[in-house]
Amino acid sequence: MRGAAMTNRSIQEGPAGLWDSVKKAAFVIGSGILLLAAFGNSLTWHLQRFWGASGDFWQNLWTRLYLAYEGHDASLFYLGTMLIPTVAFWVPNSLLLWADTTGKPSFITRYRIQVDKNNPVDPAKLRSAMKTVVFNLFFLSGPMVVGVYHLTSWRGNPCGPELPTFHWALTELAIFSIIEEIMFYYSHRLFHHPSFYKHYHKQHHEWTAPIGLICIYAHPLEHVISNMLPVVMGPMVLGSHLATTSLWYCLVLWSTTISHCGYHLPFLPSPEFHDFHHLRFTNCFGVLGVLDRLHGTDSKFRQTKQYERHVLLTGLTPLNESIPDAPKKGQ
Ligand SMILES: [Zn+2]
Ligand SMILES: [Zn+2]
Repeated sequence: MRGAAMTNRSIQEGPAGLWDSVKKAAFVIGSGILLLAAFGNSLTWHLQRFWGASGDFWQNLWTRLYLAYEGHDASLFYLGTMLIPTVAFWVPNSLLLWADTTGKPSFITRYRIQVDKNNPVDPAKLRSAMKTVVFNLFFLSGPMVVGVYHLTSWRGNPCGPELPTFHWALTELAIFSIIEEIMFYYSHRLFHHPSFYKHYHKQHHEWTAPIGLICIYAHPLEHVISNMLPVVMGPMVLGSHLATTSLWYCLVLWSTTISHCGYHLPFLPSPEFHDFHHLRFTNCFGVLGVLDRLHGTDSKFRQTKQYERHVLLTGLTPLNESIPDAPKKGQ
């Protein structure tokens, strides 16, 4: 019932304050895009050189796939946007589920962020979450991707014979991330408004210590507006090639799985930011953290040990051992 108790603590502020912040955000993001346009070319030129001959490898692979599916563009599109991302989602999540339910391999539990939680995960709670996850994936994400195919096809064939250049694919991924950050941050914050929280977003927050699967454990409306729309919008607006869209969907699913997995593992992006959102509710609404910094919605997070641990772990010592919690009062 923690979610209910926290409802009234959800973000509340006057419209003027919010509008000021939005203007500030627009200015900073606009400047960021200008900088990217100015220096992006030389940066990606170096990356393209580094990429080198392997570009041909991907083009050959794509040509074979393209010829095998000639005349069946829709099937090719669903292979790239449904089948591949679904496999990309379940492979790491099956491994994580194994660890969450069995506590094995035992070394992984040393990396748990909320040390005393999900040790092991409650089977009844997990079963109920699993039903929602499967429903959201197959009955909401699936049909939505069919809609995306038709909308994208109107503005051109997303399955053209030539892959985009490395240059362009990278630029597109950067633009997708910006679009996702903006749409996710504001829709997520709106779902924390007292008028929406209880009905739509509380379900996702039942898990104050999340596990990987919980990334798509949400009310159907939240799943469509906050999880799906910010992700599918970028490729639709840019009319992207299927290969880039497929890669983007996989990257997003991995990133959100890591954000929810509850383990701060070596050499993977830090999940501390979103884990803190599940623990405390009123901070850390975005994906990248840029808008949280601008709106000051990371102010509490920045005073915590979790913030000190919010780095890429490049060694094997768990961060809650190298940066331990402050001793509790009276100890
Ligand atoms: Zn979450
Ligand atoms: Zn939330």
